[in-house]
Amino acid sequence: MTISPVKKQKLPDSVVDRLLEVVRSGQFNTGDRLPSERVLAVQLGVSRASLRDALTRLEMLGVLEVRQGDGTFVCSPEGRTLSLPFQGLLRSLPQTAQDLLEFRRILEPEAAALAAERATPAQIASLQACLRQQHVTAAQGLRLSQDDIAFHTLIAQMVGNTVILRVLETLQQVMQDLRSRTLPGQYPEITLREHTRILAAIGNRSPVEARQAMADHLETVVRTAVETPSTSSKGAYDA
Ligand SMILES: [Zn+2]
Repeated sequence: MTISPVKKQKLPDSVVDRLLEVVRSGQFNTGDRLPSERVLAVQLGVSRASLRDALTRLEMLGVLEVRQGDGTFVCSPEGRTLSLPFQGLLRSLPQTAQDLLEFRRILEPEAAALAAERATPAQIASLQACLRQQHVTAAQGLRLSQDDIAFHTLIAQMVGNTVILRVLETLQQVMQDLRSRTLPGQYPEITLREHTRILAAIGNRSPVEARQAMADHLETVVRTAVETPSTSSKGAYDA
């Protein structure tokens, strides 16, 4: 039996880890500005390019916000999503998009059912506002991706379960990255119709209908994704 030596960790990952330590050390609060890129690169002992790569990845995770010409600010020390290693694992899997969809089909119908039981009136109002925004976005001929992520995230928030929320947010983020790379276009009218049905079920406090509506929605997503080759210009469907 041969055991290969431990691979040296890629530098960008270690810069990300070190930056996360700095942000979470307690020296910085939400809204604080980090030292300039030049100063940070010197303090961390890395190149400006490695630092920028790490800043971009932490921005994607919602930990930092880079405002051009103004500096880098702390958004949320914990970030929106699960750890980079978990995201890295998902990204490295073959067939990731289909595997992610399958996992969402297991998780999200139950989340929708719990949301129907637990959502506050304010949360339902937020979901209605989100759906209205989707109509505006679709009418402008723009992709629904961001609004779609917001819609599913709001439902995950309604559950009031931190684990479910973090896992779903992370899956959404990874799916969004995959989708924007591989799947052009969409079928907005189908998305809007199915989202409307999900919202109605949650608003009516019907866990059974919410579970079914979400299951049907994700089923459509799977079917459409399979039918749509990545090279096709016909378009894919936002989940
Ligand atoms: Zn959706």
